[in-house]
Amino acid sequence: MKLSRRNFLKLGAATATLVSLGSKTTTLKAFGREKLKEGGQGISLTGKKLKKINSTCLMCGVTDGITGFVKDGRLVKIEGNSKHPNNRGKICAKGQAGIQYLYDPYRIKYPMKRVGKRGEDKWERITRDEALNIVAEKIKEIQKKKDAGKIAIHKGRDRDKTILKRFGKAIGTKHTFNHTSICEASLKVGYETSMGADIDMADVAKSKYTILFGDNVFEASYMSVPMSQRIMDARAKGAKLVVFDPRLSHTAGQADNWFPVKPGTDGAVLLAMCNVLTSKNKVPAAGKKFINEWSNYPYDKLVKHLKKFTPSWAEKISGIKAADIERITIEFAKAAPKCCARGYNGLSNSVNGAMNARNLTLLNALVGNIDEEGGFCLPKGGKAGKVKPDPTDPEGDFPIKDIDHEWFPLASHHAYHLLPDYVEESGYNIDLYMIHMYNPIYSNPDVKRWREFMYDTKKLKYIVDFSPFWSETAVEVADLIIPDVTYLERLAVSAMPSADQMPFLQLYQPIVEPMYESSSVYDNYFEIARKVGGETAKYFKTRSLDAYQKEVVETEWGKGSWKKIKEEGVIIPTIEGKKYKAYDELTEAERDKLRKYHTYSKELKKEDIAEMKEKEYKFPDGDGPILDDKGKETKGVVRDGKYYKGFTTETGLFTIYAESWKEEGHSALPDFKEPEPTKGKKNDELILITGKPNVHTQSRTANVAWLMEIVGFNPAWINPKTAKAKGISTGDEIIIESGKAAKKMKCYAYVTEGINPDCIFVSASLGHWKYGDLASKGLVKEEGKQRKMFDASKDFPAQELEKGFGRKTTTSNRMYPFGVNKGTPVNTGGFANEKVNPIVKNWEDKTVVGYSPNPIMESSKKYTDPVGGEYAWSNTLVKVRKA
Ligand code: SF4
Repeated sequence: MKLSRRNFLKLGAATATLVSLGSKTTTLKAFGREKLKEGGQGISLTGKKLKKINSTCLMCGVTDGITGFVKDGRLVKIEGNSKHPNNRGKICAKGQAGIQYLYDPYRIKYPMKRVGKRGEDKWERITRDEALNIVAEKIKEIQKKKDAGKIAIHKGRDRDKTILKRFGKAIGTKHTFNHTSICEASLKVGYETSMGADIDMADVAKSKYTILFGDNVFEASYMSVPMSQRIMDARAKGAKLVVFDPRLSHTAGQADNWFPVKPGTDGAVLLAMCNVLTSKNKVPAAGKKFINEWSNYPYDKLVKHLKKFTPSWAEKISGIKAADIERITIEFAKAAPKCCARGYNGLSNSVNGAMNARNLTLLNALVGNIDEEGGFCLPKGGKAGKVKPDPTDPEGDFPIKDIDHEWFPLASHHAYHLLPDYVEESGYNIDLYMIHMYNPIYSNPDVKRWREFMYDTKKLKYIVDFSPFWSETAVEVADLIIPDVTYLERLAVSAMPSADQMPFLQLYQPIVEPMYESSSVYDNYFEIARKVGGETAKYFKTRSLDAYQKEVVETEWGKGSWKKIKEEGVIIPTIEGKKYKAYDELTEAERDKLRKYHTYSKELKKEDIAEMKEKEYKFPDGDGPILDDKGKETKGVVRDGKYYKGFTTETGLFTIYAESWKEEGHSALPDFKEPEPTKGKKNDELILITGKPNVHTQSRTANVAWLMEIVGFNPAWINPKTAKAKGISTGDEIIIESGKAAKKMKCYAYVTEGINPDCIFVSASLGHWKYGDLASKGLVKEEGKQRKMFDASKDFPAQELEKGFGRKTTTSNRMYPFGVNKGTPVNTGGFANEKVNPIVKNWEDKTVVGYSPNPIMESSKKYTDPVGGEYAWSNTLVKVRKA
């Protein structure tokens, strides 16, 4: 049978059914295939044994365990790794489509040096060695001038915690930037303030009542695959799910109750819930005990503070009925302590985001569920070890870092979406700007501002992009490209928190060899450091990246751990004499033993205290936090004369009263302020909200055919009431306009009850003007002109065509491993709708482009949470009209 992609999918479905009937081998043989001996669930397309490698997915930041199957050096299938404690063998559509990400015809194949001006798209192919020499020479030149702050490194979603920091310190710069402020920076700051950890690991599997605030966990939020499967397991046993989200996401659609809360007002609902608990005497005894014994604010005083936040007050702000707030709160408290409220971007991406996150932790604390089984748990991740010598913190002037700190002193994860503003304010230009896994001129809000900044050769003198793909940033503004590998060709170690409350460590390892002349950005940092020489090279003496990562694992996990992690892709620590196990090797009883709760209340052992004293940690006189030798980090707490692990907060306790916030002019206690940018919203204005659909990441998946076939078009969601007032129907072209500068976008309308009438929703991920043929459909209009799509086949005649994949890289004859399924109607952003579908004849239709809302998003200090530093994605007001 010739295997078309459609047949393959049909076969997959049939196979799954038959496997569940328990007649695996004969059934599969009847289809002319045989079950993989090693893989268990795999299908061999040829009857030949396939090589199987366990690794970690990085199509998105959830980082689930995967198993890659390789035939003749080619990756032919990706499955979930059942040895991984988080995803337990399951992965999402993005994870499976990683194969097309790897074999994307728009990979950058060779190091390239720009020969024209930025934007001219003219290149010269050079060797890797030449490229690395250019970077090393520039670093040396800057180092000679003793102004290493002129070097900046900006990374996107990269889970390796050790190499970039090491590289930055070794070359002498503190200007190492992240992308967290366009993600969940304020959530982290709010959580850190209350409980020390920057993320929760709610025990949703054992929770009987889960409430989600702005957390679209069934589609794209943090821990989506691990959490959604556990929520569904709990639902099957009768657990309730309640969702607060302005939009009827897939998660909201699965819930018992969906409340379309007005963006940026979740914090008011949360305080009103706290008020219901205290004013109606619904706080469980365990909650009162926790507040009195483990928080820094007495329960009685807290009750007084919460008095003003009544449900009717919250109703006026949030649009959620007071009666609903009361009912949900009482149901929630009844399930305590096996209940949890969780939040994500929707909770925090507003100018009051960090406070909203604090309010959420307070609700959890009041029901006494902090780090309880079935409750709101602290993360339990494994640790990666440190390789010595470790470079010390660089000294000198770092004006960009200083401005970030001056503007947002409490934002521990920074606000680097404002980099153009920081450079302008400081007048301090960057001579060498290196980026990896980041596409700033597409991913940031107010794209125009970022584009102007990156075209400016004074502000950013030389840009090196380690992108594996021809992204907007690579094509338009990079001066030098040293193509990185994808996560399927990379070696990296990453420690993530566990959805099962047990520590583990995971590994990314090459499933296939690096393609073309791509090379791992980490390898390149090693190589550049060696070329720079002197002090810088000292920290990269380890012969290879492999040897370095081995040391990272074995210094923390002991001998033999490297071998085990290479085999399994993951290791879970010591249990009854056996040093490491994978998840599927553990019995349920062993898993129960490994699950950790109440970690904060663990008393410190005598030897721990002795070790702390030896390290010169600072102990309080009487009760208080134990600080490290620098007096910065909390390492424990003394309570009633006893020594505990405590919370890693400024007080060592669960912090309700935050002195640090007061010092910076913010409310020390949980509070609520309406977001200033949307507060005075006029009747004809709407709040533009955004989010990711289930099969896409923020910016990297729009050239993946399987995913574009599912969601390749993203009309703007608008409520029928609002649409009627504006004379808009589904399928109409509309103009969305923001701000004084009148930034505009044109797109199609999708009229649906599934959105708050005050909002309009445009999903992120699509609307590229570069990034490959499918992502940009070769036809994005900009400033009235048609932008000619970058054509790799013309511009790079030397490129090799991949064996077995055909072709010139044009939409019409692009081929995929299982053939092209032409003419499939496109899915309309998650909702099939007969009125929208006719707009889009088929998913490869060149006239249909997705839209990115980023260019019309307002961005400045005003649209940034002054505490958490997160960009306020849900605070832009727009006007909408029929085109
Ligand atoms: S959620 Fe999907 S894309 Fe993200 S890591 Fe897991 S499998 Fe990969």
